[in-house]
Amino acid sequence: MPLSEFSLIENYFSKLTPERRDVSLGIGDDCALLCCPAGKEIAVSIDTLVEGIHFFPDVSPKALGYKALAVNLSDLAAMGAEPAWFTLALTLPEQNPAWLEAFTEGLALAAKPAKIQLVGGDTTRGPLTISIQVHGLVDKGRALRRDGASAGDRIYVSGTLGDAGASLKKRLENWSPEPLDEADWQYLQQRLEYPIPRYRLAQQILEYASSAIDISDGLLADLGHILERSQQGAKISPAKLPLSSALKKLSSEFAIPLALGSGDDYELCFTVPEKNIEVLEQHGLDIHCIGEITEGDGLILLDETGKEMNIDARKGYDHFGT
Ligand code: ADP
Ligand code: MG
Repeated sequence: MPLSEFSLIENYFSKLTPERRDVSLGIGDDCALLCCPAGKEIAVSIDTLVEGIHFFPDVSPKALGYKALAVNLSDLAAMGAEPAWFTLALTLPEQNPAWLEAFTEGLALAAKPAKIQLVGGDTTRGPLTISIQVHGLVDKGRALRRDGASAGDRIYVSGTLGDAGASLKKRLENWSPEPLDEADWQYLQQRLEYPIPRYRLAQQILEYASSAIDISDGLLADLGHILERSQQGAKISPAKLPLSSALKKLSSEFAIPLALGSGDDYELCFTVPEKNIEVLEQHGLDIHCIGEITEGDGLILLDETGKEMNIDARKGYDHFGT
């Protein structure tokens, strides 16, 4: 892009996000200069969103800016890392100040509460694509990894599950079940477009949890990653899955598959050794125990009486994935 455009963008972005003291040099030079405090590790993750593949072309640019950063913040949360810095690679089809204005408003909305600073990036012309790389800080050796679960650990999830999936199902399949009203759909769309990354909750569970992941692809798929990396199995009770009041209006025939299989909620799924449960539960956090890690590699569903249901959850519920 012409230099004037670059400096415009640079000016725009350099004042957008909170200023941190551990940034010696932010936007404007060839590199940013960042200070990693003694005793900390840097957690790094990148996600790319391509128009037509990861988001609908008609999504509001504000929601897009928000979600592009929020999903990356969710990865930091899943590691127990505190948000610190991010970079942004933006490919734009045209110069559109109104679009940029709304997009950066959404970015700032996600950045401000996370106290994360935009420290650099790249701007090019082409099909609309957004790449964000986040950097977070975590005490050395204390990050929540996927490979830390052991048999006997309890499995927890935060918030409610299946909300974003319900909104996506409406959008993709024109799905409109009877009991849901306009307010429900607005709530569900909000859950899809403005997911709340759980980096604060992550700090509160950090000392008690043995492993964690964020739910981007659906509980069964993402819990499956913990089981694979930890070489364990699990038993979970679908009846214990936390559901929003909107999803509770649906018959469980719809609600449970959404909560088990649909993604985009960006809640946390984590495991807690039995010895830590009592203290953890005293904190009154928005978390729900849904099952237990077991030896072996099966992922088994229990019915309401606690009896094993005769399906391999990893295969049997695949077709509900969105
Ligand atoms: P260079 O040519 O040295 O790579 P650029 O001209 O691409 O530098 O960028 C100039 C400055 O503006 C750099 O500090 C860069 O990090 C920043 N920058 C460019 N695009 C963005 C963006 N989309 N978001 C944040 N910072 C950006
Ligand atoms: Mg340079």
